[in-house]
Amino acid sequence: MKDRTLLMIPGPIEFEPAVLAALGAPTTSHVAPDFIEAFGGALERMREVFLCPDGQPFVVAGSGTLAMDLAGANLVEPGDRALVVNTGYFGDRFGALLGRYGADVTHVRAPIGAAPSLEQVAAALSENHYKLMTVTHVDTSTGVLADVRSLAGLAREHDVLVVVDGVCSIAGEELRMTEWGVDVALTASQKAISVPPGLALLVAGPRALAAFHNRTLPVLNYYADWTNWLPILEAYEDRRPSYFGTPAVNLIWALRVSLEQILAEGMDVRFARHRSLSQACRAALGALGLEQLPLESRWAANTMTAPRYPAGVTGAELLPRVKAAGVILAGGLHPEIKQEYFRIGHMGPANGGDLLATVGALEIGLAGCGYPFERGAGVAAAARALAG
Ligand code: PMP
Repeated sequence: MKDRTLLMIPGPIEFEPAVLAALGAPTTSHVAPDFIEAFGGALERMREVFLCPDGQPFVVAGSGTLAMDLAGANLVEPGDRALVVNTGYFGDRFGALLGRYGADVTHVRAPIGAAPSLEQVAAALSENHYKLMTVTHVDTSTGVLADVRSLAGLAREHDVLVVVDGVCSIAGEELRMTEWGVDVALTASQKAISVPPGLALLVAGPRALAAFHNRTLPVLNYYADWTNWLPILEAYEDRRPSYFGTPAVNLIWALRVSLEQILAEGMDVRFARHRSLSQACRAALGALGLEQLPLESRWAANTMTAPRYPAGVTGAELLPRVKAAGVILAGGLHPEIKQEYFRIGHMGPANGGDLLATVGALEIGLAGCGYPFERGAGVAAAARALAG
């Protein structure tokens, strides 16, 4: 029997064997010719995955929060106004981070499970001139998907920089930086990019770089300062040795492998596959009578699902039973309603078989908790959705 459980949380996720093999390869010097080639190649492929042909990619050792810092520290000067389109916990985090760099932060909020309307955001953009607007593409605390395309269109009308926290979206949810007018998109390696935790990834478009170059004050964060990283990244793309901070050599080898796999699948096919997994997951939950946190299906993410516990079932009872049945799921994260819901990740290499196994384990868990439902209905609904 395989001595492992299936990890179906919204990051870290399960990784491809070739990606893990790259991590286990002997570490080279960060200026070895083959590493320079791998890093340069990874940077080139980031532009393709982020769909931003004229963007500047950044790859820095750290987690997704560092990627948020790479945006905030370099774009904000004290006194700048920033608008946060808030759909949960990670919107709060972005607001706090921008405030730390001296931004005057306004949040546009919605009830938990909803996204602010375009009218609300348009009204906020008309009231003040903001330097930048952040949008969390998928807030991992709520599973709410934001309409980045329309929001970016609005911000552009007001000449506001658009920064997308795509930690739970990029390489899973459809995101087209250049076409949609997104100026910065950022993520972390451990989600749909499909590389173990440890890399902060960001692509800055031309308007964001111009705003950075027009700063009047120095960046208030030494490690995150683009001034330090730009010459290094340019050198790696030119296949020249260079150094500022030691790159995470093995993670970058692994990143290069994963980006190649992502591009081999093709971005459109990949977006469609994530949509299909999410539809199958939601079909299963519907058949089992479980509600979801996003209040409308247009707000439901494709990389993860956030079901509510049915009446009479708690996380403490359910999640260990699901784990015993072979699948690890995550509890709630939003501080106000943490106990009311759980989270299923289905991004990156996750496939239909993983999803069926997940729904099967969930059914075993629910049955163990005494929740009444038609046995097999969830698996059947997911299988039908996957086949359709
Ligand atoms: N933003 C979002 C939407 C996230 O889901 C996360 C992590 N769950 C972060 C930011 C922060 O990333 P990290 O935990 O890698 O610092």
